[in-house]
Amino acid sequence: MTTSSAASAVLAGWAGLRAEQEELYRSLHRHPELSHQEHRTAEAAADGLRRAGFRVHTGVGGTGVVGILTNGAGPSVLLRADMDALPVRERTGLPYASAVTATDADGNDVPVMHACGHDVHVACLLGAARLLAGKQDAWHGTLVALFQPAEETGDGARGMVDDHLAAIIPSVDVALAQHVMPLPAGQVGTHTGPVLSAADSMRIIVHGRGAHGSMPQAAVDPVVLAAMIVVRLQTVVAREVPPTETAVLTVGSILAGATSNVIPDSAQLLLNLRTYRDTTRDTMLAAIRRIVTAECQASGSPREPEFELFDRFPLTDNDAATTERVAAAFADHFADRAGLIGPQSASEDFSDIPRALGVPYTYWCIGGIDAETYRRAEETGRVAQDIPVNHSAAFAPVLQPTLRTGTEALVVAALAWLAR
Ligand code: ZN
Ligand code: ZN
Repeated sequence: MTTSSAASAVLAGWAGLRAEQEELYRSLHRHPELSHQEHRTAEAAADGLRRAGFRVHTGVGGTGVVGILTNGAGPSVLLRADMDALPVRERTGLPYASAVTATDADGNDVPVMHACGHDVHVACLLGAARLLAGKQDAWHGTLVALFQPAEETGDGARGMVDDHLAAIIPSVDVALAQHVMPLPAGQVGTHTGPVLSAADSMRIIVHGRGAHGSMPQAAVDPVVLAAMIVVRLQTVVAREVPPTETAVLTVGSILAGATSNVIPDSAQLLLNLRTYRDTTRDTMLAAIRRIVTAECQASGSPREPEFELFDRFPLTDNDAATTERVAAAFADHFADRAGLIGPQSASEDFSDIPRALGVPYTYWCIGGIDAETYRRAEETGRVAQDIPVNHSAAFAPVLQPTLRTGTEALVVAALAWLAR
């Protein structure tokens, strides 16, 4: 059986699933959960997998869920969906909009919304898992359906890896994931190579010696020191990264002192980096440490500077052979609805999973915007202004053909390995 005939056989079951999948999606959307709090969502995923005949592990890395379905000898494919929502007050006006509030990790009550569309991912993966489970004569091998917590905080995938994911699942040949984006619904887009940037945030504390504002000779001024660092950091991208590379280094926050006539003891800088190559990332991180340490020395700083990395997202670097295989299957199935996308400036932690398992991966995008609405915005050159993007309070993927396309994409991509 070719991938395409296996896909037709499996996807024939979608019509019978549609109403239930849409209801699940609306229910997930109405009940979004913050990162690390995805209990209800995880329960829905585990329940759906069990009913489809998967062997299910729950509580992996917190609320992570893994379902395994073995269907004879053959390749093994991992499909991943993220489950968490964001602290955003929903303003979509949808009949199934969220009115949920929750307590975040800092103890603050915040509104919660599926503003990134992870509810789409969960509904599509459950749908794909059920369809494949229901038509096992069309494929062979092992299907691993993985529901990951805490993508938005960048530590959910690593949490599952650290919680012995590799020991729970059989060895897999490939890992696949997708994201709904502000593109026309019904479309799928693939990209070979770096598709999402790596992101790192860094907290730097530099130490000086406080004194009266009128007696600078008694001080080591951390404000001047921090200012020199900010200026000197501008040379990292300009002078140390090759001009053909894309990289960003932003000092987003600088904090020191409280009043005009006191020289403070220390200063804090918060940095954000975006890179599309691990070597560039390493170069920049090393350059930052070198510059900050040297500037502290130049100022006569009494203590070593402190560095803390946080909110780290790995590079998403799609494997060429894997992406070509998926793209060919998409071209067959979706015809002119399958295309190429460029690198996106967002970041993701999905790749922590295949990287830890030592397997190739690819990550593609599906559209979620009503095609006619998108076309009109394109015509007037107002896509950026009129189409709400992920993380916006107005981000509202249309139910169809979004859910259908996301489900089809997962089934077709998985069958590119598993088709009998
Ligand atoms: Zn997001
Ligand atoms: Zn997302």
